[in-house]
Amino acid sequence: MKERVILHSDANCFYASCEMVLNPSLRDKAVAVGGNEAERHGIILAKSEKAKKAGVTTGMPLWEAREKCKDLIIVPPHFEIYSKFSKLLRKIYERYTDYIEPFGLDECWLDVTSCQTDGFIIAEEIRQAVKDELGLTVSIGVSFNKVFAKLGSDLKKPDATTVISKDNFKEKIWPLPVSELLFCGRQTTKTLRECGVTTIGALAKMPKDFIERRLGKNGASLWDYANGLDSSPVIHKDHYTPPKSVGHGVTCVENLINNDEASKVIVSLSLDIGYKLRKENLYANGVSLVVKDENFVSYSYQKRFEGSTQDESLLAREAISLLKSNYPWRFKIRALTITAISIETSDTPVQTDMFFDTEKEEKKKRLSSAVDSIKDTYGKSSILPATVLDEKKMPAHEADRATLPGNMKKG
Ligand SMILES: [Mg+2]
Repeated sequence: MKERVILHSDANCFYASCEMVLNPSLRDKAVAVGGNEAERHGIILAKSEKAKKAGVTTGMPLWEAREKCKDLIIVPPHFEIYSKFSKLLRKIYERYTDYIEPFGLDECWLDVTSCQTDGFIIAEEIRQAVKDELGLTVSIGVSFNKVFAKLGSDLKKPDATTVISKDNFKEKIWPLPVSELLFCGRQTTKTLRECGVTTIGALAKMPKDFIERRLGKNGASLWDYANGLDSSPVIHKDHYTPPKSVGHGVTCVENLINNDEASKVIVSLSLDIGYKLRKENLYANGVSLVVKDENFVSYSYQKRFEGSTQDESLLAREAISLLKSNYPWRFKIRALTITAISIETSDTPVQTDMFFDTEKEEKKKRLSSAVDSIKDTYGKSSILPATVLDEKKMPAHEADRATLPGNMKKG
């Protein structure tokens, strides 16, 4: 079989770079994208190369970042714009292949095996095109599998191409810490360290069955990855993977002090989830509620349903009952997140809804779709249930929306 040619392209300092394209006066400055302090999303989401050098890291509170870097310029996030740039990057990739698999907004794998041109040349052309046409830079790894291509894109940045071949991977990949491998999380890294394994090379040289006994199936895959034996395909650009969960969370402007207040927030978050489920033709088989108290301690509760649903009032009702029966109320609540879990698509046969009443269901469905079309035309907050109309503690801008694709972690 012909050896595959896989590229992994990673946009450098993506959010901060997009901001610099939009506002060239920010170029070459220490720039960070940060959540809104007034709404208490006060952390660094992304930083420029210069801010990074000054010690600013992602997730750092804004005040600390300012202390580390006196001339730091903090701008609020513009996710619609990042998503637009992300699409433009894909347009460039599509000149070479239809096998394009995104990993977050700023990373993509490309399978260019069927191209006549050499992988390195393609990478260099993409790098130049991104710079000329979008004003951004990317780092690209070129290799014979996805895992090594991703590691390659990290080796030299910004604005560089690194080739990992069957001849050089032992020299370039094996000295790296094992935690750099895709899907090697904190716990796995710890277990491997206990076995004396700290580098990718050390993992590769261990007996496979030993690793499998210690870490199970995931361990066996990691061992394969370390040895260059990853055969997972790059997914076609039109392939649709339904999300495993649809969630929405919010940090409240003021702490919530009782079930009544928290319930209003839950209802309002559920509205958005119901809307999203219907838009994407998805059904939930359960709901989870994460409560963060004023001391930043999180509690997580969940419930499975007996059937599947798209109904926001049901999701809200179940989440509220989880809250009422579990949350001890020793402290006020700072943030709430609701997630519709065990998602299935509409082509999976739908079981009967748990409170099924055909006529009532049909009516409810018609009502929901009418409400959705009003929202599509006039905006999400054009129509709200009376319970949330007087809500003052909800931030005007809810930035915490999270739709998690599969079980991927962001590297
Ligand atoms: Mg990146």
